[in-house]
Amino acid sequence: MDLSYIINELGEEREQYFNAMSPPIMQTSNFVFRKVDDLSAAFADEMGGYLYSRGLNPTVDILRKKLAALDGAEDCLVLNSGAAAIFASVFANIKAGDHIVSVRKPYTWAERLFSVVLPRFNVETTYVDGGSVEQYADALRPDTRLIYLESPNSWNYAIQDLKAIADLARSKGIVTIVDNSYCTPLYQRPIELGIDLSIQSATKYIGGHSDTVAGVISGSAAMIRKIFESEYLTIGSGIQPFNAWLLIRGLRTLPMRLKQVSETTRLVLAYLRQHPKVESCLFPLDPEFSDYELAKKQMSGACGLLTFIYRTEHRGEIIRFCEALRHIFMAVSWGGHESLIIPKCAGIRPEHFRPEKKEHRMLRLYIGQESADYLIADLEQAFLSASGG
Ligand SMILES: *Cc1c(COP(=O)(O)O)cnc(C)c1O
Repeated sequence: MDLSYIINELGEEREQYFNAMSPPIMQTSNFVFRKVDDLSAAFADEMGGYLYSRGLNPTVDILRKKLAALDGAEDCLVLNSGAAAIFASVFANIKAGDHIVSVRKPYTWAERLFSVVLPRFNVETTYVDGGSVEQYADALRPDTRLIYLESPNSWNYAIQDLKAIADLARSKGIVTIVDNSYCTPLYQRPIELGIDLSIQSATKYIGGHSDTVAGVISGSAAMIRKIFESEYLTIGSGIQPFNAWLLIRGLRTLPMRLKQVSETTRLVLAYLRQHPKVESCLFPLDPEFSDYELAKKQMSGACGLLTFIYRTEHRGEIIRFCEALRHIFMAVSWGGHESLIIPKCAGIRPEHFRPEKKEHRMLRLYIGQESADYLIADLEQAFLSASGG
């Protein structure tokens, strides 16, 4: 389906709402019935029509049609956060005593789910370091029900061979989930590679304006229905109509925002590469990146998140650098209009800082919609200021 059609027309039945260009925010909790038979039918199949907005809502449905089409999926659900999307998609596919194989160091709250919540149900998780299918095959057990991936990883950009791992899992009846927040379906299409469920934090690029928290789960109609009828309705964390409207609005400019971000990121990366204070950079579509070949094979683009290692012996220099930035904000998250920085050492107690560990000197930079010159000038003055120049 044509990208322009998906973004501008799909799901928007304008004649139903006065031919308004922008869809209405259907801010209602419930829907009215005139016939008991119709009410009975809605009870029997809540996915078949509108009953209550914890289930389906017309504004949310416009968004669902667009996001599913972008993913090349039969259907999708939109939840109140990426974390809720992770929780619901994982929970729907396991039972007590099952085994999960996950990529090492997935997103913080996925890891928390595997290490804190699921052990209460006797569900064990084995972490795999590399991206090759052999490493996943070796980690499988007879009770493995789920393989959880995040490619690229949002800190170290580790890549997994999605097609090979999906083929392996399918041959053994194991469900695969991949967190596709980094690429969005514009730059990577996991469903087409055979992955069962593709999830995203829509907070990032789909929203794109740092004003909405949301998450997406895309997959087959059968899998999405299963999640809808159990986790989606029981957790009760479906996206609200106003937030769905904000995401529809965000989608209108997604292709041009990603294009701008990709171009600017290349220029900033080239600047960082030559800077004496930068020891190395991590970026999946950088030819020097360890997983570059695999990244190039399965991704058609990369976004504005990159990590660099500060060349210093002193935590204080990294802190001075971050605090000297005038236009790049220090904040979590990414995917919005504004550039951001996060030093890894913010999560490490000062007495535990070890300069010999590269990871302690990592800074994650997110490139927003500003011009490359504007950002490079800001980085340059901060490097100078941090080194006392
Ligand atoms: C932000 C993020 C999430 C979680 O999404 P929320 O919308 O913040 O709940 C999941 N995965 C990745 C890779 C993320 O960056």
